[in-house]
Amino acid sequence: TTLSPTASLSFGVELNPQPLPPAERGAILANPGFGKRFTDHMALATWRHGEGWSDARVTSYGPLQLDPASAVLHYAQEIFEGLKAYRHADGSVWTFRPEANAERFQRSARRLALPELATPDFVESLRALVGVDKAWVPEPGETGEKSLYLRPFMFASEGFLGVRPAQEVTYCLIASPAGAYFAGGVKPVSLWISTDYARAGSGGTGAAKCGGNYASSLAGQLEGAEHGCDQAVFLDSSTHTTIEELGGMNLFLVYKDGRLVTPELTGSILEGVTRSSVLQLASELGLRPEERRIPIQEWKDAAAAGELAEVFACGTAAVITPVGELKWEGGSVDHRGPGHVDEVAMRIRSTLLDIQYGRTEDTRGWLT
Ligand code: PMP
Repeated sequence: TTLSPTASLSFGVELNPQPLPPAERGAILANPGFGKRFTDHMALATWRHGEGWSDARVTSYGPLQLDPASAVLHYAQEIFEGLKAYRHADGSVWTFRPEANAERFQRSARRLALPELATPDFVESLRALVGVDKAWVPEPGETGEKSLYLRPFMFASEGFLGVRPAQEVTYCLIASPAGAYFAGGVKPVSLWISTDYARAGSGGTGAAKCGGNYASSLAGQLEGAEHGCDQAVFLDSSTHTTIEELGGMNLFLVYKDGRLVTPELTGSILEGVTRSSVLQLASELGLRPEERRIPIQEWKDAAAAGELAEVFACGTAAVITPVGELKWEGGSVDHRGPGHVDEVAMRIRSTLLDIQYGRTEDTRGWLT
């Protein structure tokens, strides 16, 4: 995809007078971890009621000044996105399906009564920041999976305690070098079924990428950790019987007969860009994709009956994560028999990574 010439915002650049010295940047890129260190710059824009977007710029990364009455601090009127920039072997830098993130950002904005940022402006902000901080995009490295994580977000910056959509809103984009999610090789995660805590409810904000959803997932995650599990799987909030998703990843079941099943989009599930990509790749990988309601009992029964080949979670951060044991209050099940390999999960994983890092041809126009 070529960059859209139709962006209406132009992000002027004020260069950071004190960028991190290259040697220090190199040390960070050698071992970036996740979300701890940030590039020299950030992109900003302001929206005002009746005026629209203005003051688009790329400037030095640093603390924001916020009025303590800023509505976001009280009423959580905030949304965000997450995507990555990948360095290819020829040195060029690419993002994966950024229009899909832009469109999800617009859907999130509508749900949280925030202003929309047009797709070309969203993509232009990525181009402007990554252009200035290109040296911060790591080489893929030994793990082949280093990248620059991009975090666009938008929040109610108006200092006003009335409960209504804010009339001043800030858009910000920051970037953070990221290592391979599984530094020691891909390892299956165990899941805890959260029955006491739902992540999102019918008519709520589950389909939006807003901070509040993540705050409300933490108690369930903690409960899972107390039971020795890596992550929690959330169920529908009204009957507690249907699988929704994890706190930050979508879920797929792979049946031995070739069905690849994922929860349908009910309005309380986040529509993952990775989920959508897996569904599009499924048939060429010889799998039959199905989006439907999945009772949690179906997982337990299929695992016990030996019908379930694999389970995996997916999202931008870890790409594809195999899932092992499923635990709940008073029980557990594990679909993995002796000599189990997550063959389908790993094949989808490398297919996606090969596209993202330019190791195979991008026949779908997924790279920008
Ligand atoms: N579900 C939730 C709740 C998430 O936060 C994420 C991460 N954005 C996902 C699913 C996966 O989405 P994506 O594939 O777009 O990263």
